[in-house]
Amino acid sequence: MPLISTKTKKNLVVGAGFSGAVMAERLASILGEDVLVIDKAKNLAGLAFDYKESGINIHKTGSHIFHTNHDFIWKYLNRFSKFDIYSHKAKAFVEGHFIDIPLNLNSLYQIFPASLAQKIESKLLKKYGYGAVVPLSDFKTNPFFFDCDLEFLAGYVFQNIFEGIYKKRRNSIFDSRQAFVKEKVSISLTKDDRFYKSKYQGLPAFGYTKLIENMLSHKNIRVLLDTNFKTVDVEGFDRVFYTGPIDEFFNFKYGMLNYKSAVFELEELDVEKYQNSGVTVYPNNYDFIKIHEFKHFKIPHSEALLTFQQKEAKTPWAQKTIISKEYQTDFMPGKNERLYPVLDEKNLKILSQYKAEAKKLNNVYFFGRLGDFKYYSMDCAIKRALELFDAVKFKAAIEFCKEQNPESVLNRV
Ligand SMILES: Cc1cc2nc3c(=O)[nH]c(=O)nc-3n(C[C@H](O)[C@H](O)[C@H](O)COP(=O)(O)OP(=O)(O)OC[C@H]3O[C@@H](n4cnc5c(N)ncnc54)[C@H](O)[C@@H]3O)c2cc1C
Repeated sequence: MPLISTKTKKNLVVGAGFSGAVMAERLASILGEDVLVIDKAKNLAGLAFDYKESGINIHKTGSHIFHTNHDFIWKYLNRFSKFDIYSHKAKAFVEGHFIDIPLNLNSLYQIFPASLAQKIESKLLKKYGYGAVVPLSDFKTNPFFFDCDLEFLAGYVFQNIFEGIYKKRRNSIFDSRQAFVKEKVSISLTKDDRFYKSKYQGLPAFGYTKLIENMLSHKNIRVLLDTNFKTVDVEGFDRVFYTGPIDEFFNFKYGMLNYKSAVFELEELDVEKYQNSGVTVYPNNYDFIKIHEFKHFKIPHSEALLTFQQKEAKTPWAQKTIISKEYQTDFMPGKNERLYPVLDEKNLKILSQYKAEAKKLNNVYFFGRLGDFKYYSMDCAIKRALELFDAVKFKAAIEFCKEQNPESVLNRV
């Protein structure tokens, strides 16, 4: 029974990634409305799509680690799946050593001889105190503070870590010094070697695709995969929720928004483990930028639970690993995926024109990483969808009051 309408509204949700799934789930379970979810892909979950191979859960688009500081988002997601506890760690391969990134006090000892590391560490602690997060550009740009050891550290990180990554991300090397300052490349004065410091971190125990499937398992929701928005007649839908690319919706009339993309190459290897962390970044060596190894994401449960005999019997899990080499590329329509929006002046101007067009439409909502042309971590995409749902619910409540009471003061505003 619909909660705040006399007739059940019909909703079309375009995209079955996190953004679309959250919206569909809320419309169906809170408003009791009908929802058709379509996705042009053959699978659910958008960029978070994962699947099993040789018993290992593969993330198709690089590593996807869920992390959030928001209690309500963690609680919301845990209604649809159990989560495995996991703290993500990443390393960078620099001058033959694997060093913690983001940089922390351990990284100093992994990079430099102990005497130099100690000297830099004590200068940093004396000046900033334990626990501070210090942008390295401070050592180069602050005219009131000059210390040759700290300046050396900043220069080392710029040349041996940042510049290589920046170049591999297919950026113009001329901007690299400005980017080093703008991106606030920092060192954390702690021994905390986790990649994310969020309060909650983990991975859905049965994968993201299963989690999204659970979110969409509601009697009011119908899902059509392999279905492009362009082929759907929107007549008959009261609202359209669009999480595809906003420029595509308007047939690129103001031009195409630019993204960076990547290619992920899987390799199955006959070794128990290939590397010491879930992700290793290669700033200077080889032509790939990262290697992801998915087995790391499941260690506490799967490996700990293997009996000695299973390990001896060399189960597929123990015997094999799967890695994914990530190569950065430009976005080429029809050839690869839109991954990272390029937020330069040109694109932001184009975006503002599409946003102005979008405002003129009634009951068509744009959101998600492609609809907003914005990088969202998964929790931010979920938060954005939940907030949009609240606005839609509020609008529906006002319309309901007007319908129920034509004399209402609401009909005069
Ligand atoms: C390489 C990479 C790694 C990432 N790692 C992390 C991480 O570790 N942790 C984290 O929190 N976040 C991570 N993210 C971010 C995460 O992927 C996004 O937050 C999330 O995917 C956003 O979900 P979405 O639903 O907005 O978009 P998407 O997942 O892209 O979903 C959009 C859906 O719309 C569909 N669609 C598009 N056009 C049409 C059309 N015309 N018709 C029908 N369907 C259409 C697409 O097929 C897609 O399924 C990463 C992102 C990238 C690029």
